[in-house]
Amino acid sequence: MTTRKLKRTIAAVETSDGAGVRIKRSIGQTQAVRLDPFLMLDEFGSDRAADYIAGFPSHPHRGFETVTYMIEGHMLHEDHLGNRGNLKNGGVQWMTAGRGIIHSEMPQQEAGVMRGFQLWLNLPARDKMTDAGYRDIQPDAIPVIPQPGATIKLIAGRLTLAGVEHLGAELGGATRPLYADIHLAPDAEITLPVAAELCGLVYLYEGEASLADQPLQRSAASELGEGDRVELRAGAGGARLLLIAGKPIGEPIVQYGPFVMNTREEIEQALQDYRTGRLTA
Ligand code: MN
Repeated sequence: MTTRKLKRTIAAVETSDGAGVRIKRSIGQTQAVRLDPFLMLDEFGSDRAADYIAGFPSHPHRGFETVTYMIEGHMLHEDHLGNRGNLKNGGVQWMTAGRGIIHSEMPQQEAGVMRGFQLWLNLPARDKMTDAGYRDIQPDAIPVIPQPGATIKLIAGRLTLAGVEHLGAELGGATRPLYADIHLAPDAEITLPVAAELCGLVYLYEGEASLADQPLQRSAASELGEGDRVELRAGAGGARLLLIAGKPIGEPIVQYGPFVMNTREEIEQALQDYRTGRLTA
């Protein structure tokens, strides 16, 4: 067993997207800052409705998946397939854009805290033009694994702890995504297996914690070095963090806004398909 060290810290930068939603973007803040198979990771968190209420009106995607994890607040997803999902506290939306989806993501509250994450997970070339799909994962469908000093919500992937394999709410495709929300009690320590073939990160969003004794910056994607396990330790106030990992795809990426393909020609095709209404045909 080799413990993964902190390889790189990608501090989130404040930006806005959609119709003016304020977000903190770590992975994906420029196209040079990615972590294969992940294209983007946004944290949104505000108690000011003005920061989020305008939401993300109707927009297209092609070539990847979006995973939206709502910690607090309500978000309504509607898409051209007729899916309508109202994401509530602790729920997840798993959307496969595939060959094309047009959807809106609109906050459903005018007061209170809105807090969550959106991850963009790339698809390999052979899956980019798959049929679009959408799945709501309600909070009670996400396995919660109690551990000494810790609680692990396993949104996606498989995690073997003390010889027991736990399955997440979503098992994902070719990139075998692992996505866990980990709450650590004050000064708690936990060791988790993360297969050597996966690239990954931890994202500290509350409290203080260290990875293999290296302090983590809050609101930053802390990239995991090589190895097959992570050792996390919380500070005196406890900590909450995401563990996100996946198998790198290793293909060229050409991105134009919400379209992520392998070649420039495929991007031009996506734009043309969108203009002519064939993105979702
Ligand atoms: Mn979207």
